[in-house]
Amino acid sequence: MTSYYSTNHGVPETDLAAALLEGQAADKGLYMPRPIPRLSSDLLAHARDLPYPELAARVLEPFAEGVFSADVLRGICEDAYDFDVPLEKATERVFIMRLDRGPTASFKDFAARFMGRALGRLVRERGRELLILTATSGDTGSAIAHAFHGVPAIRVVVLFPRQEVSDRQRRQMTTVGDNVTVISIEGKFDDCQALVKRAFADPDLAHMSLSSANSINIGRLLPQSVYYVYAASRLADVDAGEKIVFSVPSGNFGDMMGGLLASRMGLPVSRFVVATNSNDEVPRFLETGAYSKIVPSRVCISNAMNVGHPSNLARVVDLYGGRMDELGNLVKPPDMDAVRKDVFAVSVDDDATRRTIADAYKRHGVLLEPHGAVGFAGLTRYLEAHPDERRRTAVTLETAHPAKFPDEVRPATGVDPELPLSLKGLESKAERFLSMEGTYEEFKTYVLKEHAA
Ligand SMILES: *Cc1c(COP(=O)(O)O)cnc(C)c1O
Repeated sequence: MTSYYSTNHGVPETDLAAALLEGQAADKGLYMPRPIPRLSSDLLAHARDLPYPELAARVLEPFAEGVFSADVLRGICEDAYDFDVPLEKATERVFIMRLDRGPTASFKDFAARFMGRALGRLVRERGRELLILTATSGDTGSAIAHAFHGVPAIRVVVLFPRQEVSDRQRRQMTTVGDNVTVISIEGKFDDCQALVKRAFADPDLAHMSLSSANSINIGRLLPQSVYYVYAASRLADVDAGEKIVFSVPSGNFGDMMGGLLASRMGLPVSRFVVATNSNDEVPRFLETGAYSKIVPSRVCISNAMNVGHPSNLARVVDLYGGRMDELGNLVKPPDMDAVRKDVFAVSVDDDATRRTIADAYKRHGVLLEPHGAVGFAGLTRYLEAHPDERRRTAVTLETAHPAKFPDEVRPATGVDPELPLSLKGLESKAERFLSMEGTYEEFKTYVLKEHAA
């Protein structure tokens, strides 16, 4: 049975239920599965024929043994994954996996929707209630709001910085309602984050069941391994061990961790190209073996990847036998040669990102937004540097819908991408949100009054 240990090794191993409910381990480490279950040969042989939800349930089943039965897991996955996962051909061997067809049009829906249902189930079984506090700079807040909307016994409070969120991003959160409360804060993302962190550490709120549902929760990581298995099964002979290349546009490295897990499960992968924007702390780390954060992070057009210290890096280090603490100190270096063998890291600046959006459309007829373009550019560089790899099938991930970034896509391609159905009509829906100055006292009073059990 798979159990879950903390990358800081300061707490006992536990099961998936506890890891999901806790989020971060009490020693501030991140939960990791042990052992990592292998994909069965039966599953590899049949994966190609399984619809996405069914495949997800089969892949996740061994991770959830003893916590969710196969039937429960199938129900969760069927409910969560009711949208397409297109694999679009760009060239003879290069495909774009569009992870942008969920309700908030970003790949975060894959993780958030699984987590919402899984956590909802656990809370109900235990007769508990849960209050989720989350700070957002844009996309996470709406993915969480939609994923937890209507889940009984769970309430969600999303804090967003008034000036830093686009109109559309705000409407994606403020039109949800019901068990989702949205608060506009007079400040920056960091101020919202600080309020949430202080609430978690506040002894006066310790009697409440608080959770952050943020990207370090293992419940958001595991479901991100599934689409790698999905793509490989559709495009390669995984049963015979045919290896493919994946390119992953990365910020906090949760998406990429999903891929690394899939390969540890036995999915045949030649290399992961990990493409960052100008926040190049990880490409530098791989190059030099020395790690330093970028503070403050650099502002790039692929804004969901403006991360100067990836919250999942400790997991990557752990997977390769090293140890990184919660502050980003490398306590024990990982096996760098092994990391480099699996991962090719590359940084793509805004100029190259814009050129890639234009080129990909002109030469291959595919429409990319900035995040996907970083992935595509990273893959192109990898194939240039490794001509042998061009014979392989390669898949690059598109993590958001191009219609979310019209100001970049339009000038580069001349195309005004049509809004997906899920984002249409937001302008005519009623918005509801609270406004606060951003003092902790005001926020705390609200939490105690509105949400005390
Ligand atoms: C969050 C996000 C990313 C980065 O994913 P990580 O798992 O943090 O590396 C990339 N693209 C988009 C559109 C995102 O919202």
